[in-house]
Amino acid sequence: MYKLIDGKEVSKSVKDRIKAQTELLAKEGKKITLAVIIVGNDSASRVYVNNKKKACEYVGFISEEYALPDTTTQSELISLINELNDRADVNGILCQLPLPKTIDEKAVIAAISPKKDVDAFSAYNVGKIMIGDYDFLPCTPAGVMEMLKFYNIDVEGKNSVVIGRSNIVGKPMSMLLLHSNATVSIAHSRTKNLAELTKGADILVAAVGKAKFVTADMIKDGAVVIDVGMNRDENGKLCGDVDFDNVCDKCSYITPVPGGVGPMTIAMLMQNTLKAYYLQNNC
Ligand code: NAP
Repeated sequence: MYKLIDGKEVSKSVKDRIKAQTELLAKEGKKITLAVIIVGNDSASRVYVNNKKKACEYVGFISEEYALPDTTTQSELISLINELNDRADVNGILCQLPLPKTIDEKAVIAAISPKKDVDAFSAYNVGKIMIGDYDFLPCTPAGVMEMLKFYNIDVEGKNSVVIGRSNIVGKPMSMLLLHSNATVSIAHSRTKNLAELTKGADILVAAVGKAKFVTADMIKDGAVVIDVGMNRDENGKLCGDVDFDNVCDKCSYITPVPGGVGPMTIAMLMQNTLKAYYLQNNC
Protein backbone atom coordinates (compact mmCIF):
# COMPACT_ATOMS: atom_id res chain seq x y z
CA MET A 1 0.00 0.00 0.00
CA TYR A 2 1.48 3.32 -1.03
CA LYS A 3 1.65 6.45 1.11
CA LEU A 4 0.56 9.74 -0.36
CA ILE A 5 3.02 12.61 0.04
CA ASP A 6 0.80 15.48 1.01
CA GLY A 7 2.29 18.68 -0.38
CA LYS A 8 -0.42 20.79 1.21
CA GLU A 9 0.45 19.55 4.69
CA VAL A 10 4.21 19.91 4.21
CA SER A 11 3.87 23.36 2.65
CA LYS A 12 1.67 24.48 5.56
CA SER A 13 4.35 23.40 8.02
CA VAL A 14 6.98 25.40 6.07
CA LYS A 15 4.73 28.46 5.84
CA ASP A 16 3.83 28.26 9.54
CA ARG A 17 7.53 28.28 10.40
CA ILE A 18 8.01 31.38 8.22
CA LYS A 19 4.91 33.05 9.66
CA ALA A 20 6.29 32.63 13.19
CA GLN A 21 9.55 34.32 12.10
CA THR A 22 7.67 37.13 10.36
CA GLU A 23 5.60 37.75 13.49
CA LEU A 24 8.76 38.05 15.60
CA LEU A 25 10.22 40.56 13.12
CA ALA A 26 6.94 42.48 13.03
CA LYS A 27 7.13 42.97 16.81
CA GLU A 28 10.34 44.92 16.14
CA GLY A 29 8.60 46.93 13.39
CA LYS A 30 10.37 45.01 10.59
CA LYS A 31 8.59 44.08 7.39
CA ILE A 32 9.35 41.77 4.48
CA THR A 33 8.30 42.63 0.93
CA LEU A 34 8.15 40.49 -2.20
CA ALA A 35 7.69 42.30 -5.53
CA VAL A 36 6.05 40.18 -8.21
CA ILE A 37 6.08 41.29 -11.85
CA ILE A 38 3.72 39.82 -14.40
CA VAL A 39 3.79 40.83 -18.06
CA GLY A 40 0.82 40.10 -20.33
CA ASN A 41 -2.31 38.04 -19.88
CA ASP A 42 -1.19 34.44 -19.64
CA SER A 43 -3.93 32.74 -17.60
CA ALA A 44 -1.65 30.12 -15.97
CA SER A 45 0.77 32.89 -14.95
CA ARG A 46 -2.11 34.83 -13.42
CA VAL A 47 -3.08 31.78 -11.31
CA TYR A 48 0.54 31.33 -10.12
CA VAL A 49 0.87 35.02 -9.25
CA ASN A 50 -2.42 34.97 -7.31
CA ASN A 51 -1.26 31.91 -5.38
CA LYS A 52 2.03 33.62 -4.54
CA LYS A 53 0.10 36.66 -3.32
CA LYS A 54 -2.09 34.47 -1.09
CA ALA A 55 1.00 32.78 0.36
CA CYS A 56 2.52 36.20 1.13
CA GLU A 57 -0.66 37.19 2.97
CA TYR A 58 -0.57 33.91 4.92
CA VAL A 59 3.01 34.30 6.13
CA GLY A 60 2.66 38.05 6.74
CA PHE A 61 4.78 39.44 3.89
CA ILE A 62 3.83 42.52 1.92
CA SER A 63 3.25 41.55 -1.68
CA GLU A 64 3.63 44.24 -4.33
CA GLU A 65 2.27 43.32 -7.72
CA TYR A 66 3.36 44.97 -10.97
CA ALA A 67 0.99 43.86 -13.75
CA LEU A 68 2.40 45.18 -17.03
CA PRO A 69 0.79 45.03 -20.48
CA ASP A 70 2.21 42.63 -23.09
CA THR A 71 3.37 45.69 -25.06
CA THR A 72 5.98 46.35 -22.34
CA THR A 73 9.48 46.60 -23.79
CA GLN A 74 12.52 44.89 -22.39
CA SER A 75 14.09 48.19 -21.37
CA GLU A 76 10.88 49.28 -19.56
CA LEU A 77 10.85 46.00 -17.67
CA ILE A 78 14.53 46.25 -16.77
CA SER A 79 14.04 49.87 -15.61
CA LEU A 80 11.34 48.65 -13.21
CA ILE A 81 13.65 45.88 -11.96
CA ASN A 82 16.43 48.43 -11.42
CA GLU A 83 14.07 50.59 -9.34
CA LEU A 84 13.11 47.56 -7.25
CA ASN A 85 16.78 46.55 -6.90
CA ASP A 86 17.50 50.02 -5.46
CA ARG A 87 14.65 50.00 -2.94
CA ALA A 88 15.85 48.90 0.49
CA ASP A 89 12.32 47.97 1.54
CA VAL A 90 11.93 45.40 -1.28
CA ASN A 91 13.54 42.13 -0.25
CA GLY A 92 12.64 39.78 -3.09
CA ILE A 93 11.91 40.29 -6.80
CA LEU A 94 10.22 37.74 -8.98
CA CYS A 95 9.39 38.08 -12.64
CA GLN A 96 6.78 35.51 -13.60
CA LEU A 97 7.82 33.43 -16.62
CA PRO A 98 7.16 32.98 -19.47
CA LEU A 99 7.62 36.52 -20.75
CA PRO A 100 6.30 37.74 -24.12
CA LYS A 101 8.55 36.59 -26.99
CA THR A 102 9.74 40.15 -27.60
CA ILE A 103 11.58 40.11 -24.27
CA ASP A 104 14.81 38.21 -23.61
CA GLU A 105 14.18 36.23 -20.41
CA LYS A 106 17.90 35.76 -19.76
CA ALA A 107 18.50 39.52 -19.81
CA VAL A 108 15.61 40.07 -17.41
CA ILE A 109 16.78 37.39 -14.98
CA ALA A 110 20.30 38.84 -15.14
CA ALA A 111 18.94 42.28 -14.24
CA ILE A 112 17.55 41.12 -10.88
CA SER A 113 20.02 41.69 -8.06
CA PRO A 114 21.36 38.25 -6.97
CA LYS A 115 20.51 39.24 -3.39
CA LYS A 116 16.85 39.65 -4.36
CA ASP A 117 16.68 36.75 -6.85
CA VAL A 118 14.29 34.63 -4.77
CA ASP A 119 13.60 32.25 -7.68
CA ALA A 120 17.37 31.49 -7.75
CA PHE A 121 17.40 31.67 -11.55
CA SER A 122 20.37 34.03 -12.01
CA ALA A 123 23.73 32.67 -13.17
CA TYR A 124 25.22 33.70 -9.82
CA ASN A 125 22.68 31.76 -7.77
CA VAL A 126 22.71 28.79 -10.16
CA GLY A 127 26.50 28.70 -9.73
CA LYS A 128 26.09 28.69 -5.96
CA ILE A 129 23.65 25.78 -6.26
CA MET A 130 26.27 23.85 -8.28
CA ILE A 131 28.86 24.19 -5.51
CA GLY A 132 26.33 23.53 -2.74
CA ASP A 133 26.80 26.95 -1.15
CA TYR A 134 23.25 28.19 -1.28
CA ASP A 135 21.90 31.64 -0.67
CA PHE A 136 18.61 30.74 -2.30
CA LEU A 137 17.41 27.25 -3.03
CA PRO A 138 15.71 26.59 -6.38
CA CYS A 139 12.04 26.59 -5.30
CA THR A 140 10.60 23.47 -6.95
CA PRO A 141 13.57 21.15 -6.31
CA ALA A 142 13.92 22.50 -2.76
CA GLY A 143 10.22 21.77 -2.24
CA VAL A 144 10.80 18.18 -3.33
CA MET A 145 13.71 17.81 -0.90
CA GLU A 146 11.60 19.28 1.90
CA MET A 147 8.85 16.73 1.24
CA LEU A 148 11.36 13.85 1.29
CA LYS A 149 12.72 15.15 4.60
CA PHE A 150 9.25 15.53 6.10
CA TYR A 151 8.46 11.88 5.34
CA ASN A 152 11.91 10.71 6.54
CA ILE A 153 12.78 9.38 3.09
CA ASP A 154 16.54 9.01 3.07
CA VAL A 155 18.11 9.56 -0.34
CA GLU A 156 21.70 8.75 0.56
CA GLY A 157 23.11 6.09 -1.73
CA LYS A 158 19.77 5.63 -3.48
CA ASN A 159 19.48 5.31 -7.23
CA SER A 160 17.63 8.43 -8.29
CA VAL A 161 16.46 9.26 -11.76
CA VAL A 162 15.31 12.72 -12.74
CA ILE A 163 13.41 12.86 -16.04
CA GLY A 164 13.93 16.36 -17.43
CA ARG A 165 16.96 18.64 -17.60
CA SER A 166 15.47 22.12 -17.57
CA ASN A 167 17.32 24.91 -15.80
CA ILE A 168 14.33 25.48 -13.54
CA VAL A 169 13.58 21.92 -12.43
CA GLY A 170 15.59 18.99 -13.80
CA LYS A 171 19.17 20.28 -13.45
CA PRO A 172 18.86 21.87 -9.99
CA MET A 173 16.80 18.86 -8.79
CA SER A 174 19.66 16.58 -9.78
CA MET A 175 22.12 18.82 -7.93
CA LEU A 176 20.12 18.82 -4.69
CA LEU A 177 19.79 15.02 -4.80
CA LEU A 178 23.51 14.75 -5.50
CA HIS A 179 24.36 17.04 -2.60
CA SER A 180 22.26 14.71 -0.42
CA ASN A 181 24.45 11.80 -1.59
CA ALA A 182 21.98 10.13 -3.94
CA THR A 183 23.37 8.46 -7.07
CA VAL A 184 21.75 10.52 -9.78
CA SER A 185 20.91 9.90 -13.44
CA ILE A 186 19.37 12.62 -15.58
CA ALA A 187 17.12 11.54 -18.44
CA HIS A 188 15.88 13.71 -21.31
CA SER A 189 14.26 13.45 -24.72
CA ARG A 190 17.34 11.83 -26.27
CA THR A 191 17.71 9.19 -23.55
CA LYS A 192 17.60 5.68 -24.97
CA ASN A 193 15.71 2.90 -23.19
CA LEU A 194 14.19 5.26 -20.66
CA ALA A 195 12.11 2.54 -18.99
CA GLU A 196 15.26 0.45 -18.38
CA LEU A 197 16.76 3.40 -16.53
CA THR A 198 13.67 4.32 -14.53
CA LYS A 199 13.04 0.70 -13.50
CA GLY A 200 16.27 0.92 -11.50
CA ALA A 201 15.16 4.05 -9.67
CA ASP A 202 14.54 3.99 -5.93
CA ILE A 203 13.56 7.63 -6.31
CA LEU A 204 12.02 8.86 -9.54
CA VAL A 205 11.37 12.53 -10.20
CA ALA A 206 9.31 13.30 -13.30
CA ALA A 207 9.68 16.83 -14.74
CA VAL A 208 8.73 16.31 -18.36
CA GLY A 209 5.59 18.32 -19.02
CA LYS A 210 3.69 15.46 -20.68
CA ALA A 211 0.43 14.19 -19.18
CA LYS A 212 0.63 10.65 -17.72
CA PHE A 213 4.00 10.06 -19.42
CA VAL A 214 5.35 7.78 -16.67
CA THR A 215 3.55 4.46 -16.75
CA ALA A 216 3.53 1.46 -14.39
CA ASP A 217 5.99 -0.57 -16.52
CA MET A 218 8.63 2.14 -15.87
CA ILE A 219 8.50 1.82 -12.07
CA LYS A 220 10.49 -0.33 -9.66
CA ASP A 221 8.42 -1.95 -6.91
CA GLY A 222 8.59 0.19 -3.78
CA ALA A 223 9.89 3.30 -5.58
CA VAL A 224 9.34 6.83 -4.31
CA VAL A 225 7.73 8.76 -7.16
CA ILE A 226 7.70 12.55 -7.25
CA ASP A 227 5.58 14.13 -9.94
CA VAL A 228 6.57 17.70 -10.79
CA GLY A 229 4.44 17.89 -13.95
CA MET A 230 1.47 20.21 -14.27
CA ASN A 231 -0.49 19.33 -17.37
CA ARG A 232 -4.05 19.10 -18.60
CA ASP A 233 -5.43 15.70 -19.55
CA GLU A 234 -7.76 14.96 -22.48
CA ASN A 235 -10.69 16.32 -20.44
CA GLY A 236 -8.89 19.51 -19.46
CA LYS A 237 -8.33 18.25 -15.90
CA LEU A 238 -5.08 19.10 -14.13
CA CYS A 239 -2.74 16.11 -14.04
CA GLY A 240 0.91 15.29 -13.60
CA ASP A 241 3.57 13.54 -15.68
CA VAL A 242 2.81 10.28 -13.89
CA ASP A 243 -0.11 8.02 -14.70
CA PHE A 244 -1.07 8.08 -11.02
CA ASP A 245 -3.94 5.55 -11.01
CA ASN A 246 -1.85 2.84 -12.64
CA VAL A 247 1.48 3.66 -11.00
CA CYS A 248 0.50 4.22 -7.35
CA ASP A 249 0.22 0.57 -6.29
CA LYS A 250 3.85 -0.06 -7.22
CA CYS A 251 5.13 2.83 -5.09
CA SER A 252 6.07 3.18 -1.45
CA TYR A 253 5.41 6.93 -1.67
CA ILE A 254 3.93 9.07 -4.41
CA THR A 255 2.93 12.72 -4.80
CA PRO A 256 -0.50 13.62 -6.17
CA VAL A 257 -1.20 16.33 -8.76
CA PRO A 258 -2.65 18.68 -7.69
CA GLY A 259 -1.66 18.88 -4.01
CA GLY A 260 1.91 17.59 -4.32
CA VAL A 261 4.90 19.56 -5.56
CA GLY A 262 2.89 22.66 -6.59
CA PRO A 263 2.18 24.01 -3.08
CA MET A 264 5.78 23.27 -2.08
CA THR A 265 7.21 25.52 -4.79
CA ILE A 266 5.34 28.49 -3.36
CA ALA A 267 6.29 27.65 0.23
CA MET A 268 9.97 27.56 -0.75
CA LEU A 269 9.58 30.92 -2.50
CA MET A 270 8.40 32.32 0.84
CA GLN A 271 11.42 30.71 2.52
CA ASN A 272 13.77 32.33 0.00
CA THR A 273 12.13 35.72 0.57
CA LEU A 274 12.69 35.42 4.32
CA LYS A 275 16.31 34.40 3.60
CA ALA A 276 16.68 37.45 1.34
CA TYR A 277 15.55 39.67 4.21
CA TYR A 278 18.14 38.08 6.52
CA LEU A 279 20.91 38.35 3.91
CA GLN A 280 20.15 42.02 3.25
CA ASN A 281 20.00 42.83 6.95
CA ASN A 282 23.02 40.72 7.95
CA CYS A 283 21.08 38.57 10.39
P1 NAP B 1 10.75 21.88 -19.85
O1 NAP B 1 11.67 23.02 -19.75
O2 NAP B 1 9.84 21.76 -21.02
O3 NAP B 1 11.63 20.54 -19.76
C1 NAP B 1 11.07 19.29 -19.98
C2 NAP B 1 12.17 18.26 -19.96
O4 NAP B 1 11.57 16.99 -20.27
C3 NAP B 1 13.27 18.50 -21.01
O5 NAP B 1 14.53 18.34 -20.41
C4 NAP B 1 13.02 17.43 -22.06
O6 NAP B 1 14.18 16.92 -22.67
C5 NAP B 1 12.39 16.33 -21.22
N1 NAP B 1 11.58 15.46 -22.07
C6 NAP B 1 10.65 15.81 -22.98
N2 NAP B 1 10.18 14.72 -23.61
C7 NAP B 1 10.82 13.66 -23.07
C8 NAP B 1 10.80 12.28 -23.33
N3 NAP B 1 10.00 11.75 -24.26
N4 NAP B 1 11.59 11.48 -22.60
C9 NAP B 1 12.42 11.99 -21.65
N5 NAP B 1 12.50 13.31 -21.39
C10 NAP B 1 11.72 14.13 -22.09
O7 NAP B 1 9.81 21.78 -18.57
P2 NAP B 1 10.05 22.22 -17.03
O8 NAP B 1 9.99 23.69 -16.91
O9 NAP B 1 11.21 21.49 -16.45
O10 NAP B 1 8.70 21.65 -16.40
C11 NAP B 1 8.40 20.28 -16.43
C12 NAP B 1 6.98 20.08 -15.89
O11 NAP B 1 6.95 20.53 -14.54
C13 NAP B 1 5.90 20.90 -16.61
O12 NAP B 1 4.70 20.16 -16.60
C14 NAP B 1 5.75 22.13 -15.73
O13 NAP B 1 4.46 22.71 -15.85
C15 NAP B 1 5.95 21.52 -14.38
N6 NAP B 1 6.41 22.45 -13.35
C16 NAP B 1 5.79 22.37 -12.16
C17 NAP B 1 6.20 23.16 -11.12
C18 NAP B 1 5.51 23.03 -9.80
O14 NAP B 1 5.63 23.90 -8.98
N7 NAP B 1 4.78 21.93 -9.58
C19 NAP B 1 7.24 24.06 -11.29
C20 NAP B 1 7.91 24.11 -12.52
C21 NAP B 1 7.48 23.28 -13.54
P3 NAP B 1 15.11 17.83 -23.64
O15 NAP B 1 15.90 18.70 -22.73
O16 NAP B 1 15.94 16.84 -24.36
O17 NAP B 1 14.18 18.61 -24.53
